[in-house]
Amino acid sequence: MSNTDVTTVAAYAAPAPQSPLARTTVPRRPVGDNDVLIEIKYCGICHSDIHQVNEDWGQAPFPMVPGHEIAGIVTQVGSAVTRHEVGDRVGVGCFVDSCRTCENCVAGLEQFCLNGATGTYPIGPDGEPTYGGYSTHIVVAEDFALSIPEGISLEEAAPLLCAGITLYSPLTRWNAGPGKKVAIVGLGGLGHMGVKIANALGADVTVLSQSLRKKDDGLRLGAKAFHATSDPETFTKLAGTFDLIVSTVSANMDLDAYLGLLRSGGTFVNVGAPGEPNSINMFSLIGGNKNLAGSMVGGIAETQAMLDFCAQHNLGADIEVIPADKINEAYERVLAGDVRYRFVIDTATIA
Ligand SMILES: [Zn+2]
Ligand SMILES: [Zn+2]
Repeated sequence: MSNTDVTTVAAYAAPAPQSPLARTTVPRRPVGDNDVLIEIKYCGICHSDIHQVNEDWGQAPFPMVPGHEIAGIVTQVGSAVTRHEVGDRVGVGCFVDSCRTCENCVAGLEQFCLNGATGTYPIGPDGEPTYGGYSTHIVVAEDFALSIPEGISLEEAAPLLCAGITLYSPLTRWNAGPGKKVAIVGLGGLGHMGVKIANALGADVTVLSQSLRKKDDGLRLGAKAFHATSDPETFTKLAGTFDLIVSTVSANMDLDAYLGLLRSGGTFVNVGAPGEPNSINMFSLIGGNKNLAGSMVGGIAETQAMLDFCAQHNLGADIEVIPADKINEAYERVLAGDVRYRFVIDTATIA
């Protein structure tokens, strides 16, 4: 690739809403002075990829190349790049640029850029489509490529770029650590990282899952206790127990019941994204000074801190690596809850 050419690269795309993904090519911009070209090695399959392809969150441009859990190697750098070198192990998460000057960007909350962060896919603030990580290469601004430390394999690191930071951010913001009782609701791609990270932070971790089907996994991942939310007794037995509950469930739930599990002053954080509004009885909040909060991924500096933390504690995602021609099957299995705990595409199989 020369410095000035728009290049076409191999990718897997959904040609239209709700249609199966198939091999295609997409353009990548020339490598600008402040850009890096990344040879993508692995890309995780996030549940939101499926939501986006199905337009569950509104209209989106097609063809769509999903993927925002990217891990790869820098193969070219622009003339002004200082943060990365050819050969570096890097990751890209949910966004690839922002204005860098608004108050949220300055505060390290680039995901909430007031001028609109550029999504890794499907679209930038200018309305132009962007193409994600189910592809062989991507060009991004150097500031938005994270360093993946030695100590985590690229395939186990890929899901950290969305699932990892989505849990690390609320767990650290609400001080999960020694002496704190933390519950993770839902043991899927997000939840399993929540258990690992909360445990590594030193918290006493409980999994709240629909059934006890994944109990052995939950305990192996670091939870001290595992309870079924389908059992009404769970909500009486554990009433007033937790300092922090992080819910990864992307369906409506009985928030009043979950708020009842918090100690006074405790916080319930939602990181799932249900399509429908959820109602709540305000008495569930005011009794006990309880907090109901949300959280969405993390900024660049925080994402780097998460990767460094995970490497230090030998935490990667539990993954199943698949070739690209199994993406559609993997989507079906994600929807059926049949993955432990993240599918990761070997992008060498796309070319
Ligand atoms: Zn994601
Ligand atoms: Zn901004």
